[in-house]
Amino acid sequence: MKMHNFCAGPSILPKVVTEQLARSVVDHEGMGLSLLELSHRSDTFVKIISEAKSLLLELMGLDAEEYETLYLTGGASTQFYQVPFNLLNEGQTAAYLDTGRWSAKAIKEAKHFGNVAIVGSAANSGYDHIPKADFSRLEEPPAYLHITTNNTVSGSQIHEQISAPCPIVADMSSDILSKPMGDLSGHGLIYAGAQKNIGPAGTTIVIVKKSLLGKVDRAIPTMIDYRTHVKNLMFNTPPVISIYGCLLTLRWVKEQGLEQIQKNNAAKAALLYEEIDRNPLFRALVKEGSRSLMNVTFDLVEGYADRSESFLQLAAEAGCMALAGHRSVGGFRASLYNALPLESVAALVEVMQAFTAKHG
Ligand SMILES: *Cc1c(COP(=O)(O)O)cnc(C)c1O
Repeated sequence: MKMHNFCAGPSILPKVVTEQLARSVVDHEGMGLSLLELSHRSDTFVKIISEAKSLLLELMGLDAEEYETLYLTGGASTQFYQVPFNLLNEGQTAAYLDTGRWSAKAIKEAKHFGNVAIVGSAANSGYDHIPKADFSRLEEPPAYLHITTNNTVSGSQIHEQISAPCPIVADMSSDILSKPMGDLSGHGLIYAGAQKNIGPAGTTIVIVKKSLLGKVDRAIPTMIDYRTHVKNLMFNTPPVISIYGCLLTLRWVKEQGLEQIQKNNAAKAALLYEEIDRNPLFRALVKEGSRSLMNVTFDLVEGYADRSESFLQLAAEAGCMALAGHRSVGGFRASLYNALPLESVAALVEVMQAFTAKHG
């Protein structure tokens, strides 16, 4: 049976990527060695990580003089404290936009390092929209503004460019390179766990503006200091296979082109939201204007809540997998990352229509 993978992460990758990874695990490019057995200091891997760095900057439209790309470990979750460790002085204030579960986690960690000003929050309405950022109550510009561009759990996404009186730090874990990235010159730091849209789990992408580093007074442990990784191509052993998977995915992204990827993503999301809005048994969980093109959250309408399991069962029978909503939200979530084909969304829409024909 054809499987349709709606998993939120680790998630679907382009087939050319998984196939090449499989070959490289057995014998990397005819070397007679598995990529898993190669030194990370070998010419082969130095080339892989160097291209992965430069290609990512190129796709993001950022200047290599100003910005450095790092492939770190510890997940986006480590960035929640690595960011303030490096960028927020004690006594200083950082601004945070509270748009979802991951933003809230980032806020919790930042409080260990300095003051946190919440300049907008949608927590009181179940994170069903993107609030405006309001800096009017701050006496001086904050060290940075932290945003989560796409809220993987609740299913909202920032669609308008945010302006701030300070550098922007963006958690782009679940929508990086899902469209042309626009003007990122106001960004001081961008991070993303690889496993949502860029590659296999294991590495975390960090893109940092070099001029922002070295400004805090506290001592920073070597591994957590971004400058360590800016200075050294590889300070310690990186997750070789994960970074190779990222490189292959980035090459695929470049080949498709970000404009085309954006068109595909928009078509997929439109097909699903139209069905949710049209179908009398389903409702969307996020307000129009803030809805995510990557993670679509929805539920059954009132009175049908006890049929969630039957819907998931029907979906599974059609090969549509990983549709249960995050445990903190409930309902359903369909993740439509770059590599998911339109036909998978069409298959899901068919399941929804079949469900309604049966239960409606
Ligand atoms: C998944 C996710 C995280 C956490 O990523 P890990 O790599 O598992 O630590 C953080 N932020 C966002 C927006 C996410 O989607």
